[in-house]
Amino acid sequence: LHKFSTTMVQNNAAIFVGDVASAKLVKTRMAKSTLDAGWAMLKTMLEQKSHQAGVVFEVVNEAYSTQTCSCCGVIPASSPKGRAGLRIREWTCSECGAVHDRDVNAAKNILAAGHRRLAAGIPVR
Ligand SMILES: [Zn+2]
Repeated sequence: LHKFSTTMVQNNAAIFVGDVASAKLVKTRMAKSTLDAGWAMLKTMLEQKSHQAGVVFEVVNEAYSTQTCSCCGVIPASSPKGRAGLRIREWTCSECGAVHDRDVNAAKNILAAGHRRLAAGIPVR
């Protein structure tokens, strides 16, 4: 985690992470899993190292980031939804035909949300 977070901070001017995953996991049996602990630790490392290096670090709202098509911006009927959708790793947008890897598509939407926040100015809350 230390190596990865250091590389991320050295190679990027801004880092955006989603806000929902950990909070959602807390409500499940996976709450105490090492995966969840690792993710929380990685977020903390990224935040601290970004701060030290002057890199932008923001936690953004990741709601619908999995379901929204990062190409056309709509939530198509074909996108993965709910518990059943968790097993869908790759899908095709029924609106624009774009083929998505589930995680890459969600990451693109989180990045776009981060860019929108920078463009609009970051609200105090
Ligand atoms: Zn689309």
